[in-house]
Amino acid sequence: MEAMFEELIRLWKKRNIAGFSCADRESARQKILEMIPQNATIGFSGSVTLDELGIIRELASRGNQVFNPYLESLSREEGLEVRRRATQADYYLASANAVSQKGELVFFSGLGNRTAGVAYAKNLIVVCGINKLTPDLDSALKRAREYATPLNCKRLKWNTPCLADGICRKEICLFPEYRRMCCQILILEADALPDRMKVLLVEESLGF
Ligand code: SF4
Repeated sequence: MEAMFEELIRLWKKRNIAGFSCADRESARQKILEMIPQNATIGFSGSVTLDELGIIRELASRGNQVFNPYLESLSREEGLEVRRRATQADYYLASANAVSQKGELVFFSGLGNRTAGVAYAKNLIVVCGINKLTPDLDSALKRAREYATPLNCKRLKWNTPCLADGICRKEICLFPEYRRMCCQILILEADALPDRMKVLLVEESLGF
């Protein structure tokens, strides 16, 4: 695994993506806390990986202002507005659905806040466990569509064709009959800005 991470980090270097290898979730959490100044504002998109790290809670408890659109107290409109503000925070945190060993990162998004934050936030930190690695872009897209998204639909109980059996039927996954989760797909191959994007590769399974 070490060699695989090293190769990805090497590939990313010329694509303006700074990669870091972390032995476990604890070292990833510490790395993020070191990277982000205490007075920085934080945006993020919903992610089991980030939940398992407990990093959003920790950043909020040490005083970082966090734009959290997932609070139950928010109305739909308020939640959408907080998502917009989150993409404009100083730092945006997310996880990829899949990472190709050739270097591409794949992000699926329903509302588009995740793709917007990942594509254009001022500073981006992406966390990925080893379970997200795939051999190439085709298998990364397949993983995101046929594995990660159906599990997310199940977790959030979204009414989609894949909810019951985990099989994607994107041809019929349309409104208003269904609440399609994967509306947008972002394939990130490189970053134009040299210091914007950091990816933490964690040597344990995180999220799905
Ligand atoms: S397109 Fe629809 S059925 Fe297919 S994975 Fe996405 S949400 Fe599920």
